[in-house]
Amino acid sequence: MTEQTPAAPEHAAPAGPQRCGLIAIVGKPNVGKSTLLNALVGQKISITSRKAQTTRHRITGIHTIGAAQFVFVDTPGFQTRHDNALNRSLNKTVLGAVGDVDLVLFVVEAGSFALADAKVLSLLKPGVPVLLVANKLDKVHRRGELAPWLKSMQERHPFTEFVPMSAKNPKDVERLFAICERYLPEQPWWYAEDELTDRSERFLVSETVREKLFRLTGDELPYTSTVVIDKFDEEPARSGPGRMVRIAATIVVERDGHKAMVIGDKGERIKRIGTEARVELERLLDAKVFIELWVKVRSGWADDEARVRSFGYE
Ligand code: GDP
Ligand code: MG
Repeated sequence: MTEQTPAAPEHAAPAGPQRCGLIAIVGKPNVGKSTLLNALVGQKISITSRKAQTTRHRITGIHTIGAAQFVFVDTPGFQTRHDNALNRSLNKTVLGAVGDVDLVLFVVEAGSFALADAKVLSLLKPGVPVLLVANKLDKVHRRGELAPWLKSMQERHPFTEFVPMSAKNPKDVERLFAICERYLPEQPWWYAEDELTDRSERFLVSETVREKLFRLTGDELPYTSTVVIDKFDEEPARSGPGRMVRIAATIVVERDGHKAMVIGDKGERIKRIGTEARVELERLLDAKVFIELWVKVRSGWADDEARVRSFGYE
C-alpha cells in the first residue's frame, strides 16, 4: 500500500531561519523616498507630492517575503534652508532614523549630486552599510554619462552597492528587495506577516488630507500648513463589512490669505480636498467615510516649540 504524502500547507514555512531588519530611506527632499517606500510596501502609506518637504514623520512600512521581514523608515528630507523649531524637530527625526538601522538606502536622482545631498550624506554613521540608490533612472537619457558620475560618487562615500533604478518600475523594486535581503540579520520577525505599518489609522487620515491639500493648492501654500484630526469615530455596530468612520479635521495655516487659498472660490477647493481624501480613505480604511474639514489660522506656529509639540511633532 502506498502512503499518500500530505499536501503542502497553504502557507508553507519559509525555507531557512527568519530574518528581520530595519532599513532607513534617506535623501534630500523630492528624490523619490516616499514613492520608493510605497512601492516597497505595496500600498500607499507615505504621502507623495511634487512639492518638497511633504513628509514630516518617521514612517514605518513593513513587508514580509518568504523568510525575510523588511521594516522601512521614511524620513523627512534634511532641512537646511530655515532654522526654526519645526525644522529642528524634523532634523532630529532624520538623525533618529539613521542611528540604529541595519541598512541605509541613500536616495539621489541618478546623475546628480548637490549640496543638499551632501548634507544628508554627512549625517550617516560609519559602520552601517549604505546602498546608493540612483533613482529616477527613467529620466536619464544618456546612460553613458552615469559611469563618470558613479565614479565620483564612490569617492564621496564607501557605498556597499550601487542600485540604478526607478521607484516607479516594479521590476527594479523587486531587484532592490533581493539586494536588501542580504543585509537583514537572522532574528525573529517583529511584526505579523500581514502587517503593513505601525502607524495608526488617525495618522493615515491626517497624511491623506495633507497630501490632497498640497496637491490641490500647488506651490502656493507653504509647507508649514498642517492637518489636525479632531474626531475619528467608528460606528461600533458597523465594524466588519459595513464599517463606518466619521472624521473631522482642521487644516491649520499661517495667514488669512492661505485660508482663502485653501477654501477656494465659493468653497470649491476645500470641497475637492474633502472628496478626494474621502475616496482614498474609503479604500485605505476599508470603510464608508464621512469627512468634515475646517480651516484655522495660527500665525507663526512653526516658530513656536510648544506649539510644534502640541501638533504632534516631537
Ligand atoms: P521625497 O520627497 O523624496 O519623498 O519624494 P517623493 O516620493 O514625494 O517624490 C517626488 C516626486 O518625484 C514625485 O512627483 C514622484 O512622482 C517623482 N518620482 C519618484 N520616483 C520617480 C522615478 O523613479 N521616476 C520619475 N520620473 N519620477 C519619480
Ligand atoms: Mg517624502
